[in-house]
Amino acid sequence: MSLRIAGGRVYDPANGVNGDVRDVCLSDGKVVDDVDEHATRIDARGMVVMPGGVDIHAHIAGPKVNAARRLAPEEHRGDVHERTAIMRAGTGGMVPSTFVTGYRYALLGYTTVVEAATPPLSARHVLAELRDTPMIDPLFLVLLGNNVALFDLIRRDPARVRDAVAWWLEATGGYGVKLVNAGGIERWKRGAGNVTSLDDEVAGVTPRQVIESIGSAVHDLGLPHPVHVHCNNLGVGGNWRTTLDTLDTLEGRRAHLAHLQFHAYGGKPGGRLRSRAPDIAEYLGAHPEFSADVGQVMFGPATTMTADAPVSERLRDITGGKWVNADTEVETGCGIVPFTYKEKNEVHALQWGIGLELFLLSRDPWRLVLSTDHPNGGSFLSYPKLIRLLMDREFRNDQLRRANKKAIRRTVLLDDLDREYTLEEVAIVTRAGPARLLGLRDKGHLGAGADADVTVYDDREDREEMFAVPRYVIKGGHVVVRDGELVEALSGDLLRVAAAHDPAIEDVLRERFEERYTVQFDNYPVREPWLLEPARRVDAGRPA
Ligand SMILES: [Zn+2]
Repeated sequence: MSLRIAGGRVYDPANGVNGDVRDVCLSDGKVVDDVDEHATRIDARGMVVMPGGVDIHAHIAGPKVNAARRLAPEEHRGDVHERTAIMRAGTGGMVPSTFVTGYRYALLGYTTVVEAATPPLSARHVLAELRDTPMIDPLFLVLLGNNVALFDLIRRDPARVRDAVAWWLEATGGYGVKLVNAGGIERWKRGAGNVTSLDDEVAGVTPRQVIESIGSAVHDLGLPHPVHVHCNNLGVGGNWRTTLDTLDTLEGRRAHLAHLQFHAYGGKPGGRLRSRAPDIAEYLGAHPEFSADVGQVMFGPATTMTADAPVSERLRDITGGKWVNADTEVETGCGIVPFTYKEKNEVHALQWGIGLELFLLSRDPWRLVLSTDHPNGGSFLSYPKLIRLLMDREFRNDQLRRANKKAIRRTVLLDDLDREYTLEEVAIVTRAGPARLLGLRDKGHLGAGADADVTVYDDREDREEMFAVPRYVIKGGHVVVRDGELVEALSGDLLRVAAAHDPAIEDVLRERFEERYTVQFDNYPVREPWLLEPARRVDAGRPA
């Protein structure tokens, strides 16, 4: 299987290629230097060629995603995806069914997606759904920030936390570690309310100890992706201080902050929100060890779904509508609330503006990458519109004029912030940057040896239209999208990490499990080969 994508303008920032007209050659699922004259040829003259998109933070599989699907049957009735010769039937809406999730990501030119929040106990469910999500190579992050068994270990035997983290990744098939409101969910589950500072006590530890201990463990293991943190106090006025306090706590280690927009607020808890995006952007710019995805809010419908159950309780109070709250024993919580962001609403418009401020003030696109925290800030299908907001100043100004004026005046967006993202910068924030931050050496670039995941766009003036309907999408060397139509359905590979642990940790954890879980320790690890194969291992840099 050889393919030559001929004569396109290639954007491959990881290899310093910036719009050069050249051929991209693919063979046996990889990018190669050259192919012979028998190779299939795609004429890409006048088109834009980029590596396949990499989504660093989305919610696409598992119990919370499934609960969200069940919460909105009307969305599914309104967006039926009929079976075709190639595609299986399914439904869309904010939270599409598994098959449709895969098809729509591919139709958008994305080929790798991170499921960002998996309770380890739900790994089987997540893996089962990811196997049913075609077209993309999936990977997932395990939630470890509110696990009381791990809290015991942090308190009594902190030197073993590193081995415990490696064991949890091995037991679940996970790729990396996620902390969500460390300690705050467990405190809320106990009826004691959310934490407000990193030094509040929860089950014998503090959020700061949890962040420090697990952040160090991830660092010491040399995992390809640093600890992925959803900070405490999401959405609360004045939370920018918590965000900076979290980063100070992690100092000296790498960390990735999820949906930074929701954590960049000035003001006081319960009071009027302010933007602290300029301060946060400046701090991030000065600290090369830290990265973030934006979590842009898009006007229109969304579905908030989060392990941060106390946040969902607050959202339920705001909407007065549907709410799911679900507990995962020992490990975490979960809340789901359907939500609509309105351009005339002061708070929503400010959130929208803060996300744009972060993008436009960012000094380093490699470390501040694109997300809507799908489907929390909006669907992944809104990425093309977001790209247009970044690339097209006139369009952005037009949207700014329509948004709540009081909110926009509290941002710096009207102060000559006339930056327009280039195609190179878009290629960085949507593929090269996320791949690098995830430590995926075969993704996000088009150098020899990279996976043959390529997206070809018509170079259209309307960047939203351009990025919404790629001309060709190639996954693993197969043309899967042609002229905006899906022409081949295939399954991707699970990407999981390989990190060694001292086997002695198993007896230590067995004891903790007896005390805490209703699940037997020996039944906990995912062993069903059909859930884990085929999988590709990405090595930790410094195995224990
Ligand atoms: Zn998220």
